[in-house]
Amino acid sequence: MPDTTTILTGERMATQRYLDEADRYSAHNYKPLPVVLERGEGCWVWDVDGRKYLDMLAAYSAVNQGHRHPRIIAAARAQMDRLTLTSRAFHNDRMGPFLKRLCEVTGFARALPMNTGAEAVETAIKMVRKWGYQVKGVPHDQAEIIVCSNNFHGRTTTIVGFSSEAQYRAGFGPFTPGFVTVPYGDARAFEEAITDRTVGFLVEPIQGEGGVVVPMDGYLGCTRELCAEAGVAFMADEIQTGLGRTGRMFCCDWEDVRPDVLIVGKALGGGVYPVSAALADDEFMEVFHPGDHGSTFGGNPLGAAVGMASIDVIVDEGLVARSDRLGRWFMDELRAIESPHVLEVRGKGLMIGVEIRPESGTARPFCEALQGRGILAKETHHQVIRFAPPLVIAEDDLKWALEQVREVLT
Ligand SMILES: *Cc1c(COP(=O)(O)O)cnc(C)c1O
Repeated sequence: MPDTTTILTGERMATQRYLDEADRYSAHNYKPLPVVLERGEGCWVWDVDGRKYLDMLAAYSAVNQGHRHPRIIAAARAQMDRLTLTSRAFHNDRMGPFLKRLCEVTGFARALPMNTGAEAVETAIKMVRKWGYQVKGVPHDQAEIIVCSNNFHGRTTTIVGFSSEAQYRAGFGPFTPGFVTVPYGDARAFEEAITDRTVGFLVEPIQGEGGVVVPMDGYLGCTRELCAEAGVAFMADEIQTGLGRTGRMFCCDWEDVRPDVLIVGKALGGGVYPVSAALADDEFMEVFHPGDHGSTFGGNPLGAAVGMASIDVIVDEGLVARSDRLGRWFMDELRAIESPHVLEVRGKGLMIGVEIRPESGTARPFCEALQGRGILAKETHHQVIRFAPPLVIAEDDLKWALEQVREVLT
């Protein structure tokens, strides 16, 4: 059994039962905090023993709109009563309007809908490779894509093959060739890695799973420029940073960078349904012909209705500006806490990381202490506590969270 048993008391009987059951029947590919949730609303969730928690993880930013946003739930319900899945063998009346809206919001000509983030990353990789051969003229099977150290782009075999995290790779090879790794945040290293065979640069504008790593100002703009000069596709993975999380609609907007390929997911499904997409203009998207690529569920009417409502909520409720404003306030307040344990507070908007000093141990005990005070946060990369609540969080709730964090850190 995990060490979690020790902190469970008699009054958490239901929790223990569910933990035991999950432990017995699930694969052990995760080590979650020992909390079993049964209900959620806005930024609050409740566990099976009736405890209430503030969700400061928001499902890794898949719940930017808050749990069960009424408008998204209503859209899903209405669509469930009409039509849910057609496959792409037939058209449906929801995909077109959804993709039009997504293209308007992002400023791209076309979108290719998928379901999970990893699938959208794979889509972008296939698109850019084929573009490299057909448009750029790279010799057959020679295309290279430059990626960054400390990246996280998902869990497929191709994607983990270019991870620099040993555990993500160990035991899962052999891996797909054609990826070159450069240090994150180092535009010079990127420039030096470009060759005639380089077709794309895949980058997170802020590394989320890598520990909320914010690159130096100018990094995105500079690498974007280098891509334009060298005829390399700039591929922004905004699955976690996009849709308002960082205080801009997309994190690339902070540097007025327009990628060649934009990858979105997570909050595009409003915490209700997996919806992702790769977006690009015709030059890239036209490499795909019928039969080249696809997904049974990609673009399905239920996902499209949910995706449309998810975008509408972010726009109509001003969640981007809200993330900017509340994020600035929260980050300033976190920095003002005089804690012997904190090495650095960093982030943008409501994507904030608090790095714990190595002398103070890992971030995990701090997350467990926060759980004891009614806040769900998850450590990332051992040393970093991530604070990324739903963007709808009320100011008073954020103030309350700050007090809990202050107590735990001091
Ligand atoms: C979560 C995430 C992914 C993978 O998304 P899944 O839906 O889990 O496949 C890819 N890239 C980034 C930056 C992410 O945060």
